[in-house]
Amino acid sequence: VKMLTRIPETVRWFRKRRAAGRRIVLVPTMGAMHAGHLRLIRRARVLAGRRGILAVSLFVNPAQFGPREDFRRYPRPIRRDRALCRISGVDVLFAPRSSSMYAGDASTWVDETRLSRGLCGRSRPGHFRGVCTIVAKLFHIVTPDLAIFGRKDFQQAAIIRRMIRDLNFPVRLVVAPTVREKTGLACSSRNTHLTPAANRKAPAIRQALLEARHAVHRRPMAASRLRAIIRRRLRGFRIDYIEVVDATTLEPRKTARSRNCVALAAHLGNVRLIDNIIL
Ligand code: AMP
Repeated sequence: VKMLTRIPETVRWFRKRRAAGRRIVLVPTMGAMHAGHLRLIRRARVLAGRRGILAVSLFVNPAQFGPREDFRRYPRPIRRDRALCRISGVDVLFAPRSSSMYAGDASTWVDETRLSRGLCGRSRPGHFRGVCTIVAKLFHIVTPDLAIFGRKDFQQAAIIRRMIRDLNFPVRLVVAPTVREKTGLACSSRNTHLTPAANRKAPAIRQALLEARHAVHRRPMAASRLRAIIRRRLRGFRIDYIEVVDATTLEPRKTARSRNCVALAAHLGNVRLIDNIIL
């Protein structure tokens, strides 16, 4: 698998392929690859076709981490990631250094101001500004026809969709379903930091969300009541938020109905876990 790290070289590399009429599909990641990433990559390979270019970016983006978050201890198994990309049919890996992605005095940001307000945006101020900025930069450098994101990061996908629309990026967005461990726990690079005890507890998140879906299967229910049902299942977790929102606008709903989204974030020890379900 071709590895690119320098930006001018990367821009030239993609410009040449694009001029030759090749379709470019991008899977943006922060690395530490797991089954969720690999599913996105497999889907991307199919969408790119045999002649298309499947590009994976691998960059732990400092701009999307808060000052007290886990930027420094975020796992970075670069050799393993590269090997996984090779065997998954990735054509090119873009893994820039932080210092080349951001000038020391960088002062321009992409800020989505509506969908970013609630959910993870509330507890992680500046997070989605960091996400939008890096994704916009990746779009400029890689010039993909199509980009793939995971549904696990539900709010992120909605915000990127909005950014693409609002800023006229000529990129099609594909959102791929959440991949889970056998226990139901959503795959995440952060799962490696869970203690064995936390690992046994963590699947309760999925169970609570399935129970929530079951509860509104027949009729709508007050969102507050639904949230209480979920909270009761998650004793021992430090809940960041549990919200019932409209699945496209992410506006909070007072009544939980079919097709709404329930999203939550909760800490187990020093690991923050997120998940969501469509009712
Ligand atoms: P990350 O490396 O955590 O930034 O994730 C890179 C991409 O993989 C994002 O679009 C995520 O939404 C997606 N992703 C992460 N975990 C999962 C999962 N368990 N299932 C599906 N997609 C995922």
